[in-house]
Amino acid sequence: MRKTALLLVFALVFSAFALVGCGSDEPTDTGSTAVGDLPAGVQEIADSGELRVGVKADVPNFGLQDAASGEFEGMEIDLAYALAERMGLSMDDVVFEAVTAKTRGPLLDNGQLDVVIATFTIKPERLEQWNFSDPYYQDEVGLLVKTASGIESLADLDGKTIGVAQGATSRDAVQVEADALGITVEFLEFATYPEINAALESGRVDAFSVDKSILSGYLTEDSVILPDGFSPQDYGAATKLGTDDLTTFINEMLAEMEANGEMTALLEKWSLN
Ligand code: GLU
Repeated sequence: MRKTALLLVFALVFSAFALVGCGSDEPTDTGSTAVGDLPAGVQEIADSGELRVGVKADVPNFGLQDAASGEFEGMEIDLAYALAERMGLSMDDVVFEAVTAKTRGPLLDNGQLDVVIATFTIKPERLEQWNFSDPYYQDEVGLLVKTASGIESLADLDGKTIGVAQGATSRDAVQVEADALGITVEFLEFATYPEINAALESGRVDAFSVDKSILSGYLTEDSVILPDGFSPQDYGAATKLGTDDLTTFINEMLAEMEANGEMTALLEKWSLN
């Protein structure tokens, strides 16, 4: 009798272990994250223990670095945190690096960054150089001028000089509009936005042109962003060419955030809708 009871206990314990064993072979439904089932290219980053992200440091609501604390904040910063979480990494594992329109591509190419989430416009020619995710935001190119200049639209910039950033889409976008209006504009190219802004302040350029989101960071009491807006810009997260695992992984995250309302909440949080 005691032997039978003992056998029964043994059988029960054994089947319990067998069940647990079977369970671990099944994919675990963790709700919103894909942790535990990462594609090879993403697993490599997760294994490195850090996600290196190129972001803007001077674009309010997208990527802004606090001068005192050195902390980054903005919609693109939150996207980086969401991506890290999806990889099973924590917020502390995200290493931000401030990039410009000129530096972000080379930093991906030389392997210093895993991903760039930095107001990076998706363009056909750029798709030949880098992988881009699906768009997560759309902006347009605008013009910032000094209010005292009396300039009210691009047409008023006939014969004048416009400051643009090297490596940005702005110059081509403005040129197309200027041609359509039949006006002539000169361009001066700068490496950074603070330099263009300084040129606007000193009168070296008559207007500062780039995406409106970026211009908003330079708006002062005596300047104005003109109502003109042209050349819609779709922003995507860029990774090194051929890192398709990672691009798909980012696209899945964006689609999920879109479907579950997280994207709307994120845009609301940063006053971008
Ligand atoms: N979004 C534009 C571009 O990708 C403007 C430049 C910038 O993002 O700094 O060219």
